[in-house]
Amino acid sequence: MKLIEYMDRYEYEQVAFYTDRGAGLKSIIAIHDTTLGPALGGIRMWPYNSEEDALMDVLRLARAMTYKSSAAGLPLGGGKAVIIGDPRKDKSEALFRSFGRFVESLGGRYITTEDVGSAPQDMEWISWETTHVTGLPVNQGGSGDPSIVTAYGVYQGMKACAKEVFGSDSLEGRRIALQGFGKVSSYLAPYLKKEKARIIATDINEAALERAKKEIGATAVEPDRIYDVECDIFSPNALGGVLNDKTIPRIKAPIVAGPANNQLLEDRHGEELQRRGILYAPDYIINAGGVINISFELTMYDQDAAMEKTGRIYNTLEQIFAISKAEGISTAKAADRLAEERIQHARRVRHIYL
Ligand code: NAD
Repeated sequence: MKLIEYMDRYEYEQVAFYTDRGAGLKSIIAIHDTTLGPALGGIRMWPYNSEEDALMDVLRLARAMTYKSSAAGLPLGGGKAVIIGDPRKDKSEALFRSFGRFVESLGGRYITTEDVGSAPQDMEWISWETTHVTGLPVNQGGSGDPSIVTAYGVYQGMKACAKEVFGSDSLEGRRIALQGFGKVSSYLAPYLKKEKARIIATDINEAALERAKKEIGATAVEPDRIYDVECDIFSPNALGGVLNDKTIPRIKAPIVAGPANNQLLEDRHGEELQRRGILYAPDYIINAGGVINISFELTMYDQDAAMEKTGRIYNTLEQIFAISKAEGISTAKAADRLAEERIQHARRVRHIYL
């Protein structure tokens, strides 16, 4: 690929490559935009098939972080890191300390944290070489499992959607279909139960589904049947790409609201949902509780403050629905617009010489 051309087209600031043969480290850090603050984004450790796959992944994910942090109202830009390797076999203290030195060499322009394939223990190793790291274990001052805060944001997001569609944000009696009953769903379900919502759940993991039935009295369905369930909210809590040409015509709910990342298989599926009168809560807006939680580690971690800020996802969605209606664009596009505008405003503020 023509990297510099690609960077120019999507306005990336910096892409850095770093290898350390002794430590077995092959890594890339992409910094997309630091207008709002240092670029925050996790480390994806993955046995990529090619360098090109790793590069495309880190570029795509870094840009997505710019939008997520901007729309969440955080003083943070967007960045991401990849480490090429198998997280089950290739992790070591040396590898992560070496990666920590790579992060340190960027002088705080990039702050690292966990993502797929990396864990709090790895962040601890990194913290021995740089202070620009979050997602540490709780006993090291870390914020712990982000799913707790993410779930609260999804709950507030569902309420904002209900208000928009039904005129009331009460979820009492609403039928909510949860696709996946993992960490976020497990913390989300008690909020829904407390409001007397009716929960339908599925999971490919039998034990998870048993828990949903036992702990919250969910009605269980087979994984593929979840799209056909008669319900008020369809909530993707498992995988990306689940909103596509095959599934959208099957969805009966007037609302799609859940934490899974990259729910739209292609951008055009955002328009397709709108065309069918289904209100879509853009994924990176409704699942921002995780990054909001992590951002509080940069000062003094306070879960109540993180929850309070995450609760504002409700208002952000209200703003997005208003933009979508006023401009006749999908909620997915309206979310991008909101994120881009905040960056534009900050650019104007920052033009003076200090
Ligand atoms: P998780 O791995 O704990 O739970 C996902 C669940 O989905 C698992 O129980 C899994 O068995 C199930 N599943 C997988 N494929 C399925 C399928 N085809 N049908 C039904 N169930 C299936 O993950 P999580 O932390 O709960 O996150 C859920 C989603 O939210 C993910 O997409 C994640 O990237 C996203 N997300 C999570 C957070 C967070 O704080 N945990 C933050 C932002 C976004």
